[in-house]
Amino acid sequence: MSINNNLKKIKENIPKEVTFVAVSKTKSTEKILEAYNSGQRNFGENKVQELTEKYSILPKDINWHMIGHLQTNKVKFIAPFISLIHSVDSFKLLNEINKRGFQNNRVINCLIQVHIAKEKTKFGFEINEVQDIIKESKKLDNINVKGLMGMATFTDNTDQINYEFSNINSLYNKIKTKNINILSIGMSSDYSLAINNGSNMIRVGSAIFGKRK
Ligand SMILES: *Cc1c(COP(=O)(O)O)cnc(C)c1O
Repeated sequence: MSINNNLKKIKENIPKEVTFVAVSKTKSTEKILEAYNSGQRNFGENKVQELTEKYSILPKDINWHMIGHLQTNKVKFIAPFISLIHSVDSFKLLNEINKRGFQNNRVINCLIQVHIAKEKTKFGFEINEVQDIIKESKKLDNINVKGLMGMATFTDNTDQINYEFSNINSLYNKIKTKNINILSIGMSSDYSLAINNGSNMIRVGSAIFGKRK
């Protein structure tokens, strides 16, 4: 199936209020343009260098999402243009983003990454730490925490995935306000489960662009 058809199929499957981020990591600018030309504007990348290269080449009305682990020393490269950073996983990173936001005279939108999976290797705050970091972020003028991001355990066990998504959704419902209104959960294999658990932003890669090498 073509990129265009894949996009169409997914859009037919999700409610209109769900924002759909096309995860283009490792994929060529030609493929991104193909999605762009069928109307897609939100794209997600997980590596700073790849992201900045693609940003410099591709149309400027793309909304770029940083979805991967972000090192503090690389924030400066994306601060001028990034639309949403999904992966805030430390106080140090939060402060660095704020500082670079100030230098660029902008307020940078962020999500707090929450560790919901069983795997220990995945980044993110524990559920019981999230309210503290949100409180802390309110003292910072150049950062705008818009909500939460999470990744479920890599498994076929839908009960497990549902359990993890429902945990982050309960937390989201506790902290939700007029400004804090994004729950970014769901990837190619589990976006339907995520939407059933309150997701309003999904990050889908391989179901659009095909498998990555
Ligand atoms: C790669 C990636 C995705 C997309 O994964 P697919 O299975 O290809 O849809 C979503 N979120 C994050 C954080 C990723 O790194």
